[in-house]
Amino acid sequence: MEEVQEKSLNFIEQIVEKNLQDGVNDGRIQTRFPPEPNGYLHIGHVKAICMDFGISEKYNGVCNLRFDDTNPVKEDTEYVDSITQDIRWLGFRWGNIYYASDYFDKLYKLAILFIKAGKAYVDEQTAEQIAEQKGTPTEPGRPSPFRDRPIEENLRLFEAMQRGEIEDGKMVLRAKIDMANPNMHFRDPIIYRIITTHPHHRTGRKWNVYPMYDFAHGQSDYFEGVTHSICTLEFVVHRPLYDYFIDEMLRLSTSDDWGVPANSRPRQFEFNRLNITYTVMSKRKMLQLVNEGLVRGWDDPRMPTVCGLRRRGYTASAIRAFIDKIGYTKVEGMIDLGLLEHTIREDLKETAPRVCAIFDPVKLVLNNFDGKETITAQNIDGIGDLGTREMLFGKELWIERADFMEDAPKDFFRLSPGGREVRLKNAYIIQATGCDKDADGRITTVYANVDLNTKSGTEGGNRKTKSTINWVECGSAVDAEVRLYDRLFACEDPSAEEGDFRDLLNPDSLKIVNCKVEGALRKEMHEPVLHEGIAEQNHYQFLKQGYFVVDPDTTAEHLVFNRTASLKDNWKK
Ligand code: ATP
Ligand code: MG
Repeated sequence: MEEVQEKSLNFIEQIVEKNLQDGVNDGRIQTRFPPEPNGYLHIGHVKAICMDFGISEKYNGVCNLRFDDTNPVKEDTEYVDSITQDIRWLGFRWGNIYYASDYFDKLYKLAILFIKAGKAYVDEQTAEQIAEQKGTPTEPGRPSPFRDRPIEENLRLFEAMQRGEIEDGKMVLRAKIDMANPNMHFRDPIIYRIITTHPHHRTGRKWNVYPMYDFAHGQSDYFEGVTHSICTLEFVVHRPLYDYFIDEMLRLSTSDDWGVPANSRPRQFEFNRLNITYTVMSKRKMLQLVNEGLVRGWDDPRMPTVCGLRRRGYTASAIRAFIDKIGYTKVEGMIDLGLLEHTIREDLKETAPRVCAIFDPVKLVLNNFDGKETITAQNIDGIGDLGTREMLFGKELWIERADFMEDAPKDFFRLSPGGREVRLKNAYIIQATGCDKDADGRITTVYANVDLNTKSGTEGGNRKTKSTINWVECGSAVDAEVRLYDRLFACEDPSAEEGDFRDLLNPDSLKIVNCKVEGALRKEMHEPVLHEGIAEQNHYQFLKQGYFVVDPDTTAEHLVFNRTASLKDNWKK
């Protein structure tokens, strides 16, 4: 029996187990994944998804999807749809779908409670004035001249804000906490702002005021009954405020007022973000790349988005295995892109059928072979069994230009006149006899004799040669467009560089070549097969070239492949 090693618990799992022992929240586990629907999911989000869904799966809890849709300016249902699709594709299932906008009525009511308790006021200063009074971590801030406005006036103005009577930016609602607190987030944070320029993707024009993140997130967790609100480290400094708003809410009202069980209380925990070399992991920057046409779209195979990785040929299992490998800590770091590439190679190594594709073709004519022959080839050699396919063999074959040299040095073991024996993969041993050239001296045709007693799979097939070369039969070969992708950025940490991140793009991140693939791939020439709106992935290893996947641009006339990863693995443990 294989020895099963118990994987040690990550620090969040340790906390959860301790909470379960102590009976916190009556032993209930409820998490949520809270994306803002203002962009597509990227692999950083997958790290959070694996944590949020992983905890609930492991401890018999529930994980809900909650769209943090408090800013109508940037949010859209297009993003809601892509996010749900990507999470399902990754293999996770949520309990319910909620929206922060479900709680706009409750949050508004809560804001009124804060105002009535003298804990919030309407400020008429500009954003610049408010920022300028904030102070520094070592220097206290200065109070707004509107800080001590009478409660009645605050109420009247906040209601006017909501009725749409006040222009955007002219007033905000601020919590009245402590302008000298060493935690800057406590210096009278803005909790509501006016947005009238854009309708909300769900509530339309109902609201003219919208809650800020800090006033919405913890309360939403509370309303839903979340027990463990897990997020990334940049929220550590927000945690005291997260707790403050829930504490104050429970001072000004009871859990019954919100329909929440009395002993239900969310707590926030933080882990390190995922950063990957040669990658930007910010929706804002990605949106810029998309809008300015610097990539083809959110699903461009060079993007670190889930849909981009999918189009590149990454499988859900490889992406999850990668997240599992990197683990969760409390210190920020940078992960080598090589590890991600290594993980997809490991995944495809045993599942991708091997086929021949000739990238820089030159014609090979076999002097002593006429007609055609069908060869049965293994789809994978050595590891596992992926069945067989038929390859047509004939007098004229495409081979790689680099596999022939007219005047070759001694250590060149591929085709060259002068008696070297070379095996055609899955077929016969040949010896080159010469070549034709055009007026520029470029080789147009290579000639060779074939030894018909050396067919692979027969006794003569055991004869060894120093090299084996790939080929496809000319008459049955299919032309294919191959998109060779490389890293999107030329420098290791584009976010750390000064200046414009767009200047750091790798100019060679996409090369398009036309190649000849074997006739068996004709079967891919159709519109992509969709599963719940997502194109099915068809992976191949092109022998000696790398891993490739059929691109959804493929039609009945035109075959397109994306390079998922080259064969060379430069990941060092
Ligand atoms: P971005 O900075 O790319 O715009 P965001 O944090 O604003 O991302 P949200 O939609 O608010 O995006 O994120 C939803 C969840 O995903 C949050 O809990 C956030 O902590 C988590 N998350 C976002 N980026 C990463 C990352 N790089 N690594 C791990 N978790 C992340
Ligand atoms: Mg965010």
